Amino acid sequence: MANSIWTIEEFTCAGCGMNYTATREEHTEPHSGSFKCSICSGVVHSWSGPHHFFGWAAVKTRPPVFGRRWAGVQW
Ligand SMILES: [Zn+2]
Repeated sequence: MANSIWTIEEFTCAGCGMNYTATREEHTEPHSGSFKCSICSGVVHSWSGPHHFFGWAAVKTRPPVFGRRWAGVQW
């Protein structure tokens, strides 16, 4: 495990404000990829470099400011 460094990072979708968390893993070789919002299909984050993101999960906590808007969302 000495070569594996994981950190949790948080991202907010620029399109709809949905919050996501992802686990960032450091690599010695370059990786690239992107993650699209499951709500509005906008790109939440794209990366290219000696790291990779996985384990994307939507943050269930709803910010108060979006409370009304999200009230009509069918999950
Ligand atoms: Zn979105």
